Amino acid sequence: MFIELKDLLTIANKHLEVPCNMEAKSFEYMGNEYPLTEIKPFDLCLTNDSNKELLISGETSLKVIIPCDRCLENVPTEFNIRIDRVLKVDNGMLLDDADGDDDFVNENQLDVDRLIFDEILVNWPAKVLCKDDCKGICLICGQNLNIQDCGCNRHVIDSRMAAFQDVFDQFKEV
Ligand SMILES: [Zn+2]
Ligand SMILES: [Zn+2]
Repeated sequence: MFIELKDLLTIANKHLEVPCNMEAKSFEYMGNEYPLTEIKPFDLCLTNDSNKELLISGETSLKVIIPCDRCLENVPTEFNIRIDRVLKVDNGMLLDDADGDDDFVNENQLDVDRLIFDEILVNWPAKVLCKDDCKGICLICGQNLNIQDCGCNRHVIDSRMAAFQDVFDQFKEV
């Protein structure tokens, strides 16, 4: 969904509340596609502050279906989205942001999906587990160990994997 900002940007202190609904049904991140569900419709508040700044705010929530880090079961992960952005305005035009984090506006059009994508990205969890004590999958036969134990002897592999995981975790923290 796009919102045309042209009129708003030329009328000082004009305020708009635009009913919004995200149109995208999935979110792409690091080459993977994650389905979106339970996207809550919301009002986006837009204010032209003295022809100098455009204030953008709103709140919504949605769920992103993310596979569990250990067993790969889908986990509907809730995101509470709080939008609070300020863009510089000059002469009825949005000024280019030097930081380049204003890619949700283009030619005075505001891309609502993109705005929310930015917030999802900022709030992306470091780790997603279906439950705190998820047992993961068997590295020998692929059985989901939360459902049942397969009886494989994983002792050797588990300790090797644990060492590997330590190295990986250290790497992630850098
Ligand atoms: Zn799991
Ligand atoms: Zn097994």
